[in-house]
Parts: sequence; C-alpha cells; structure tokens
Amino acid sequence: MRKGSLQSQITSSFLLVVLLTISFFSIMTYVMIRQRFKEMTYQSGQNFVERNVSIFTYYFETNNGWLGIDEFFFNNPHAAFKDIDSTEERFPWIDRKPPSDENKNIPPSPDRLILFTADGEMIFDSDPSEGEIQISNEAMKKAIPIVVNEVEVGKLISANSAGLLRREQLIFIQDIFWTLLASTIVSVLVVVVVSLFLTRRILNPVNSLSVASLKIANGDFTQRVDVHEDNELGEMATAFNTMTVELDRQNNLRRRATSDIAHELRTPLSVLQIELEALEDGLSDPTPDTLQGLQREVAYLNHLVEDLRILALAESGDMMLDPVKLDMGVLASEMAVRVRHAAQEKNINVLVHNADQVYLLEADELRVSQIFFNLLSNAIQYTPENGQIDVYITEDEDYIVTTVQDTGMGIPESDLAHVFERLYRTSQARTRTNGGSGLGLSIVKGLVDMHHGEIWVESEDGKGSCFIFKLPKNWKEKSD
Ligand code: ADP
Repeated sequence: MRKGSLQSQITSSFLLVVLLTISFFSIMTYVMIRQRFKEMTYQSGQNFVERNVSIFTYYFETNNGWLGIDEFFFNNPHAAFKDIDSTEERFPWIDRKPPSDENKNIPPSPDRLILFTADGEMIFDSDPSEGEIQISNEAMKKAIPIVVNEVEVGKLISANSAGLLRREQLIFIQDIFWTLLASTIVSVLVVVVVSLFLTRRILNPVNSLSVASLKIANGDFTQRVDVHEDNELGEMATAFNTMTVELDRQNNLRRRATSDIAHELRTPLSVLQIELEALEDGLSDPTPDTLQGLQREVAYLNHLVEDLRILALAESGDMMLDPVKLDMGVLASEMAVRVRHAAQEKNINVLVHNADQVYLLEADELRVSQIFFNLLSNAIQYTPENGQIDVYITEDEDYIVTTVQDTGMGIPESDLAHVFERLYRTSQARTRTNGGSGLGLSIVKGLVDMHHGEIWVESEDGKGSCFIFKLPKNWKEKSD
C-alpha cells in the first residue's frame, strides 16, 4: 500500500475511529464492571461478617477466650453448635475442613474471615492457604466489634468487607479484562481486513479511471473503463466513457478536418500552378478564358479561407454580433432575390410563403442573411433542374421558426447526424464539381448557436430535404 495513498488514508481513518470507539467502550466497561463488582463484594462481605459475628461471640462466651478457635472452626462445628440455630445457611463456613493438601480441591468459603483481638492482633484466618492478608488501617475501621459483657473482645472482618478481592474474584475480573482486550484486538484486525477489502473495491474503479485518464492525456483516445458498479462510481465511469467517445470523435474530426482542408487547398493550388507554368512556358496563351479559369480558382480559395475564418470566429465565440430589429419575412424575400440567378440557371422556383406577414425578431442581420444564403445555396446546389424550394416562416411565443424545403436529392439517414460537422460531405456530394467545401452547414450551425437558436434537418434520401431553424425573438432575454 502506497504511503499517503487514498487506501492507506481511508484504512487508517477507519482504524483510528474503531480503535478509539472500541478502546473507550472497553475501558468504560472494564472500569464499570470492576467498580460494581467491588461494591457488590464489599456489600456481601459486610453481610457475611454480620451473619457470623454471633457465633464468634458465642464461642468467646462459652470458651472464655479465643483459644482453640482454629479447631472449632475446622473440626465438626455442627456438634458444638447443635443446640443453637446453626444452619449451614446461617453460618456458611461451618462445614469447612482444615486447610490441607487433601482438601485443596474443596471450594473456598464464600468469604475469608479474619478475627483480630481488641488490640488488633490477628488470631484467626479462615483461609490461610490464600497467603498472608494485608488489611489497611482504613479498612480496619469497617471491622465489626465482638462484644461480650459490654467489653470488646475482638474484631471480625472479611477480605471482601475490607475492600479486597479473593483469588477467584481477581481471576474473574482479569478474565473480563483479557476478554475485552481480545475483542478489541479482534475488532481492530477485522476492521483492517474489511477496510482493506472495501477500499480496494472502491478504489479499483478509481485506479482504472486514473490509468485511462493518463493514457488519454498521452493521446490514446480509444481508452474506455470497464466499471459496472450500480453507484456513483458507475455513473462516473459512464460519464468518463461518454467523454472519451466524444474526445475520440473530436480528435478524428480534427484530423480529418486538417487533411480535408489540405486537400481542398491542394486542388485549386495545383490547377493554378499547372496553368501558370503552361503560361510561363508559352504552352498556353493568356486568353480571357484561361484568365477566367485562374480567377475562378483564386475566388474558390478566397471563399474557402473566408468560410474557415467565419467558422473559427463562430466556434470560438469571438464573433461580435450586432443585433437589430428584423422582419424575417422581408429578409427571406430579399435572400430569395439574391439567389434568383443561380436558381434560374437550373429552372428552380424559390417561393417564400406568407412573405407579407411580419415576423419580428432581434438578431444580427448580416449573420442571419448568411444562414439563409447558405441554406438556399445548398438547396439550389443539391436540387436537380425544374425543382422547387419553399421557405415557410412561423412563430411561437418565443421563437421565429424558418423552414427551407427543397425537392432535391435528399440526405441519406446515416449522414443526417453529421451534415453540420466541419467539412462533412455526403457521399453524393464528394466531388468538387457537385459539392462545396463542406463548411456551409457548420457555419450555419455556429451562427444559429451564437443566436441561442436551434437548427435541425429532416430528410429522406431522394425525396428532398427540409432544414428548420428557430431564432429567439428577444435578443437580450436569451443572451442573459
Ligand atoms: P457543402 O459546401 O459541401 O455544401 P455544407 O456544409 O453546406 O457543405 O453541407 C454539407 C453536406 O450536407 C453537403 O456536402 C451535402 O452532402 C449535404 N447537404 C447540405 N444541404 C443539402 C440539401 N439541401 N440537400 C441535400 N444534401 C444537402
């Protein structure tokens, strides 16, 4: 795992949180249990001593001292006490055997009783096998005095009532400590394993994305990520793949555009070069026809360069628009007049419907004229002789909608999605004699976009085309 990597950061954060939580929980649990257990044992120790004081008092009374208390305690005390109410329950220790190797497996008494003389000298211990017992002066204050004839003859205390824990009790508390410690360690290990597994699952797609991004940065646009998660990462991967598809497409377009532009420039330039060389070598004469041919090529080059300039301006957003109030009906009629000669050459009729109606909008007149001009020129170019071009204008609340419809060759369905791309030409239009440079519609699209409008085409191969564009009526509103 890389130091400082997301995986190590997530794992260590998980670990820290779990470690803190479980440690806090374990420590609190241990302290609470220990505290409560000590209180409980103290209380039961006190009760135990209280229950046994009477029998020690009785012993002192009947024996006039403590001599022989050990034998009494360990040897058949039933006989000695059969005349008093000495049930096992009342005197829980009285069935105890003397401590010896033989009896070492006999369970200890409920508590360890310690008897002191009134002077504080220890004279009896019910469980000496547990080793020496240290009872502090503070604990001694809790010892219960044994009083005979109003004289204190001894003090009885137990290990628990002195605040001490016996061996089994200590083992119990230690067991709890080790159990809590073990569960903390196990939890930490489980957290490490689970968080490593989880982070790997989360980060694998992220790693694939970053590897693919690097390859894309190095120019390999074919990269796709193979992530099928049904979550945000899956959405990110889908968005990434969509982006790379688009980048790939744009890259191919750019490459094709460069080679297409080179091709477009090369053809007229070679014609010019050949013609000029022929003139220079005296192989042809500078007749008006030859000069006109040269001029046509230069004009074509000029036109191409101008189209490229306008397209670059429109696509970069650097083109300054000059919005004015326009009547779309008037503009359409003017444009129909402008293309009249070209149309007449092919005996094509251009008709603007409802031209006398007023369709007002705010737009850049020069650029909208250019949209019209390109659409009408295309319609004339791709419509055979004796065809018909109809221009319809309608309006809705916010837009003026213009339709340029022809009865020409139409556009195959597979080309429809691409005709607005730079230098795209359908296969029918791929010859220079028939088609233009392939920039006209991308300029139209760029200009419509700059006006915050929309343009689309409806067409069927062989059955004519219909270009529809809508421009907003209110310039300022749409530009905000
Ligand atoms: P071009 O200069 O080649 O006309 P455009 O960008 O104007 O370039 O058009 C792109 C392609 O769309 C054309 O090459 C042609 O194949 C197709 N096209 C455009 N307008 C029409 C139309 N009215 N009818 C049929 N095809 C058309």
